[in-house]
Amino acid sequence: MFKLKDLSYDYSALEPYIDEATMRIHRDKHHQAYCDKFNVAIANYPEFQKKEPEEILKDLSRIPFEIQASVKNFGGGFVNHNFFWEILGKNKEIVPKGDLCKAIGEKFGSFEKFKEEFGTSALALFGSGWVWLVLDGENLKITETKNQESPLSLGQKPILAIDLWEHAYYLKYQNRRADYIQAFWNVINWEKAEELFTEAKK
Ligand code: MN
Repeated sequence: MFKLKDLSYDYSALEPYIDEATMRIHRDKHHQAYCDKFNVAIANYPEFQKKEPEEILKDLSRIPFEIQASVKNFGGGFVNHNFFWEILGKNKEIVPKGDLCKAIGEKFGSFEKFKEEFGTSALALFGSGWVWLVLDGENLKITETKNQESPLSLGQKPILAIDLWEHAYYLKYQNRRADYIQAFWNVINWEKAEELFTEAKK
């Protein structure tokens, strides 16, 4: 049985940018539901219960057809949220440092230009989904996925992500997605992103 990991910070730690009530409902209800439904989906498939969920998502073609959609949706939701909580945090640094900062500068021109491009993608995403910064081969790029599809299923390595389902922001921001995106920049755990980038390059 897969379980949610404990958050490494309080539900209120991301205030005022992401409010405590949103965090509680998002994690304890939405994320928990993905986890529960993922467990149900693979209940009769012990070979998958022994694997890391990330590994399962990396090759969806190996999943029996009858549970492929459930694994993609609920397994994806489980893993995407595990990732999201990790790259959020009470902000220490407002910008990345080190190799990731350098790579962003080289790819996008500057950190400000990267923010602009990422924000534009996040604002433009239609329906429910995510916008990511991923390493795709050697290429650092901004991508989107629909619903709970994981970049891992596309062979990409996620470095950063913003959840653009309305459940991620509607309580506090209602229809003002642009304000949520703006707030997001204040609660990124750049140390973690840097770590993921270093790992992804190996
Ligand atoms: Mn979510």
